[in-house]
Amino acid sequence: MFHRHNEGAERMRQRKEAEDQAPRLSDSCPTLQTLRLQLRFRRGETRIEDSAHVKIVVVARAPAMFFVPCADKECREGGHDITSMVMDGLRRKQTTVTGEDACHGTLGSAQSRCSGSLEFVATATYG
Ligand SMILES: [Zn+2]
Repeated sequence: MFHRHNEGAERMRQRKEAEDQAPRLSDSCPTLQTLRLQLRFRRGETRIEDSAHVKIVVVARAPAMFFVPCADKECREGGHDITSMVMDGLRRKQTTVTGEDACHGTLGSAQSRCSGSLEFVATATYG
């Protein structure tokens, strides 16, 4: 059975489970010391200026998994999994990893496609 009202909670639970099962960042990239992610969202060509924020990753206990929810609260099944882009850069010991990811969610009952996208800059230091 599909219970629509449980959808969000169920997704959050699945994500939490995936994070718990993911390898630790400190195992995947032992020399990594600090990591910070600067995130900025766009809708189409428009920057959502007040959406910009910085996330400090706690390297010692963070999972090697980077999922950023869509900036739009109306968005269903959206969000940005930037794990492979970030991890590729970290394995190559890049101090700056930049990338962009388009959201593939849908908006509201009209099922129109979310035009949100995420730009990120990961800044890392290594031991
Ligand atoms: Zn979205």
